[in-house]
Amino acid sequence: MRSPIPDYLIEVLEGVASNRSGAPAGYIPELAAADPEQLGAVFATVDGEIYGAGDIDAEFTIQSISKPFTYALALADRGFDAVLAKVGVEPSGEAFNEISLESGSGRPLNPMINAGAITTHSLIGSAELDSAERLERVVAGLSAFAGRRLAIDESVCTSELENAYRNLAIAHMLRSHDILTEDPTTVVAGYTRQCSLLVTARDLALMAATLANRGVNPVSGEQVVPESVIRQVLSVMATCGMYDAAGDWATQVGIPAKSGVAGGLIGALPGQIGIATFSPRLDPHGTSVRGVSLFERFSADMGLHVMEVPAAARAVMRSNHVVGTGADAVRVLRLQGGLRFAGAERVVREAVDIESAEARVALDLTMVYSVDDVARRMLLEVVRRLALDGRSVYVVDPESMLGDPDTGDGRVIVVSDLADARAADQP
Ligand code: GLN
Repeated sequence: MRSPIPDYLIEVLEGVASNRSGAPAGYIPELAAADPEQLGAVFATVDGEIYGAGDIDAEFTIQSISKPFTYALALADRGFDAVLAKVGVEPSGEAFNEISLESGSGRPLNPMINAGAITTHSLIGSAELDSAERLERVVAGLSAFAGRRLAIDESVCTSELENAYRNLAIAHMLRSHDILTEDPTTVVAGYTRQCSLLVTARDLALMAATLANRGVNPVSGEQVVPESVIRQVLSVMATCGMYDAAGDWATQVGIPAKSGVAGGLIGALPGQIGIATFSPRLDPHGTSVRGVSLFERFSADMGLHVMEVPAAARAVMRSNHVVGTGADAVRVLRLQGGLRFAGAERVVREAVDIESAEARVALDLTMVYSVDDVARRMLLEVVRRLALDGRSVYVVDPESMLGDPDTGDGRVIVVSDLADARAADQP
């Protein structure tokens, strides 16, 4: 069978191809020369499957899409407190190149605007690194996200540096507030090289999938940054990634995202997929016009909005019934699916309602595929309390989802099959 997903991507690309509005970035002369007709889209799943259509292997510079990844590296290298002391996490509601610093401290509002990203660049690696060593850490880190060694486009870099008046102004402001502690010109040079890394839509989709996959590159298997860093990065992408269009994006697309002025756009949907699009013509926010249309379609067609309400927790209770009769009767609570707080609360409620005369209860987890930490603690407490009430409790847990519920008095028996539970109890 032929997969319908690439066909879907081709169809969606055809739908936006006629849109020729916007223009490639003009303030970096080399970018203005890009072929504006290029168009591509890629999905990368968290288990490493890649689907693409259009210009998915055309190289372009990463630009601001580097920002969430360098933020991740800085958090991993310096820790949350050190980074937060220098760069905030508040949406600025302003353009990417605005000179917006917190009044008083001079701290950039967030790491997605240039002021925050220039500062973040200076926080990568240990404080002792020189600028070349720091750049190598950036290139190696972003390459690990992509799963291949990335190169710098020297002509785009030179072109941007020759016109970097605004970023230099920002960096000097940051230096005057001691947010930057190094030479501002050197930091801007490093940041500009970071922005000039060449990527393809395929690379970007994998980089986004690494964010969606708790920091593990789904193809190489490498844990690029610790899992704790990812939640911070995705939150900042969701609130600040689209600059002064963040609210429109959050409501209409609802995927943590980041755009770049070379025409790339990424979205990372936690636990599901990384998405990347490429099309060089930009809207006034500096975001790809067709990229925005593509993401609007993807989100609507596939229900990808992160605020989409998940299936009701009610679905966790597969059934609640009695097996056997008389002294042999067992009350069986069969659970299914993935359990988090709300699902575990449903189980608590069923357990509370069990008649006190019922002496044997089984919690059947055979059809459960995941139990998060809070759900696990709640289920163990259910088991403990049912046993404390004087019942025999069977935990049917063939894949050891729950861990050891041992209450020390032999009232809880873990089995891999309900039939074993009933046999084990026969006199
Ligand atoms: N290198 C660009 C700049 O600093 C990146 C901007 C962007 O992609 N939004 O101006």
